[in-house]
Amino acid sequence: MTAPLDVLVVGAGPTGLALAAQLRSYGTTFRILDRSLDRARESRALAIQPRTLEALAGFGVTDELVARGNPAMQLRMHLPRRVVQLPLFDIGLADTAYPFVLFLSQAETESILTGHLAAQDVVVERGTELVRLERSGSSVTCRLRRGDGTEETVDARFVVGCDGAHSTVRTQAGIGFEGYAYPQTFLLADLEVDGLEPGAVHTYMTGSGMLFFFPLGSPATWRMLAMRPPGAPDTEVRLGFLQKITNEYASNRLVLRDPVWMTDFRLHNRGAAHYRSGPCFLAGDAAHIHSPAGAQGMNTGIQDALNLGWKLALVCQGRAPAELLETYESERAPVGRSVLRFTDRAFTIGTSSNPLIRLARTRLAPRLAPLALRASGPRGRVFRTVSELGIHYRRSPASTAGSRPPRKGPQAGDRLPDLPRGLQARSAGPGWHLLLSGPPALWPDERFAPLLRGRDDLIGIHRLGGESPWLDAVQALVRPDGYLGYVAHGAQLEGLRAYVERWLPAQHA
Ligand SMILES: Cc1cc2nc3c(=O)[nH]c(=O)nc-3n(C[C@H](O)[C@H](O)[C@H](O)COP(=O)(O)OP(=O)(O)OC[C@H]3O[C@@H](n4cnc5c(N)ncnc54)[C@H](O)[C@@H]3O)c2cc1C
Repeated sequence: MTAPLDVLVVGAGPTGLALAAQLRSYGTTFRILDRSLDRARESRALAIQPRTLEALAGFGVTDELVARGNPAMQLRMHLPRRVVQLPLFDIGLADTAYPFVLFLSQAETESILTGHLAAQDVVVERGTELVRLERSGSSVTCRLRRGDGTEETVDARFVVGCDGAHSTVRTQAGIGFEGYAYPQTFLLADLEVDGLEPGAVHTYMTGSGMLFFFPLGSPATWRMLAMRPPGAPDTEVRLGFLQKITNEYASNRLVLRDPVWMTDFRLHNRGAAHYRSGPCFLAGDAAHIHSPAGAQGMNTGIQDALNLGWKLALVCQGRAPAELLETYESERAPVGRSVLRFTDRAFTIGTSSNPLIRLARTRLAPRLAPLALRASGPRGRVFRTVSELGIHYRRSPASTAGSRPPRKGPQAGDRLPDLPRGLQARSAGPGWHLLLSGPPALWPDERFAPLLRGRDDLIGIHRLGGESPWLDAVQALVRPDGYLGYVAHGAQLEGLRAYVERWLPAQHA
């Protein structure tokens, strides 16, 4: 009998590709398959958030994403008699090397991730569909079907459903997907627009809804997004129809031409009841779908993957206890729920036909938004949320503060900031990284010998000197996904040792 595969990744959208990249960096044995013969060529998700750019930097792909993408630094709200200009991401983002939202077609993002995997000799098995799952002892038996009708049975210790909104893994694992569909239909087009100033996001607001233009770059300069007007015929989307809607919003000032992709779609707000059932996990759209308000979908999926991949890798290698896998749901499900709430609120404000909300949208928002956003506090909070830099796992069982947490600076469960700049790059390689702040004399090598015994390939030690986010003596253990697992003030190592024994125990080392 052949030994079961460690991980079967089902679905090679952005979530599955990111998971595969992380599993590969740990040398885990896995396969990644996708039922479609080719990767998606449509633009779909168009915005990459700062936290995703940071998280992907460890694979060396972020420079290429940034080079191919289009950062937008301004939002222009077009009102009947004036244009209100708001800076985007200009505040509250000093601790990242990527203080902007990057507009890039999902097709390009997937192409870059696929290229990275190919360079690591990872083959995405296309035209291969997961059709059935069965739990058998400590593994899962998976039935795969290829495009030519041939079938194969694979045993895997873990299966991750990165297989999108209609996830087979979710259905086969018996996990519910509760929520609702929004009644509205949306219109989307990638095209050229004459009359729009480049380098900004443009929005037009009226009583009937909102029209957006995002600076996409490729395969067309602009992405248009609008709600189908109530009562408009539910027919195939054509350029003339989009032009008519644009004329109503923008008073005939814009000319649409050369569409590359035009479609319409319904939106849902649904979340998986659980992110895990035994050896089956869900990530990305398989676990949560919502409106594109705030451009969170693909970003949340990629970050699900990067929360899970290293945990699976370490457990499969016997370097971490199975209990570590329980922290995937306890850390990521609250993030998923908060994205569902936040996008629902934004969507309701943008689309509701309730007279009060319409009034707020058309009369009050244009007046109040600039005032509210002029204050640095609210603007900074909005950007921290949308950029996903504000995500933390402080309540996770895998986040532990020492008996004396530092008075200032990042705490256990927080993302390691990139301030001073370069801090994230120092701790970007696979594995855990122990950052030591304060006088180097506090941290001679011999103090760490017991901690590193049997784990020296898993924990890197970095003495920070002047380039520390903490003011005095601090020990901080950075997890492989860039969040702080353990943080303590002072030079006592007992708490750190206890943390390491728990999550990277000696008998597993
Ligand atoms: C028209 C449209 C516009 C969008 N616009 C935006 C936007 O502006 N902003 C935003 O953030 N998001 C947007 N999205 C959503 C975004 O595309 C998703 O959030 C993102 O693709 C999720 O990635 P994923 O990898 O989790 O799932 P997917 O990209 O859906 O990938 C799932 C993969 O699994 C494969 N698969 C499915 N079932 C099986 C099976 N049984 N066996 C093998 N393979 C399987 C599929 O072929 C697919 O390749 C849009 C989506 C659509 C459709």
